[in-house]
Amino acid sequence: MGGYGSGPYGAGLKTPKKTVEQYRSINIKQLKTIINSDIKELSFTISGVDKEQERILLIDWTNSNFGGKRPWFLCPWCTERRVKLYYKDQAFLCKNCHGLAYRRTQISGDCIAEIDWEIQKIQRRLEISNLEEYTAPLFKPKNMHQVTFFQLRMKLIDLKEKRAQEWINKAEKVLNII
Ligand SMILES: [Zn+2]
Repeated sequence: MGGYGSGPYGAGLKTPKKTVEQYRSINIKQLKTIINSDIKELSFTISGVDKEQERILLIDWTNSNFGGKRPWFLCPWCTERRVKLYYKDQAFLCKNCHGLAYRRTQISGDCIAEIDWEIQKIQRRLEISNLEEYTAPLFKPKNMHQVTFFQLRMKLIDLKEKRAQEWINKAEKVLNII
């Protein structure tokens, strides 16, 4: 497991391994000393199999208990604050989201509940209480970063379309049985 701890981005991002234990990770604590406080995003390139890819990860800051500020990664999928992101299937996501992505591929046909769960999670962050009123909110919560707001909004629209499609698939199946 060479990648962990060998430099901020891990020396081995080049070749993601296939087994779960060997996924490369990126840890905000390792970056703490080299990033300026208040930086909002971190861009870097990783060497893919045949080309270099540019990646941007969003950084969020909270006040630390010991004074000063503490950086976090915002997971690109769930946008929760995370210390560590894992590199798998060409994406840096938190452990949960990689797990969910994996689980999603295992379920075929009926994942409406899972989509609903994700929709609700995003809506909580966007401070929306009424789910059916509109597809996506027009106004961002007071303290939310603009980029985060747009990302969440896009994700919400995407999830709602996905949900509609899942619903149609399910209905078709039921109709076929009848
Ligand atoms: Zn996540």
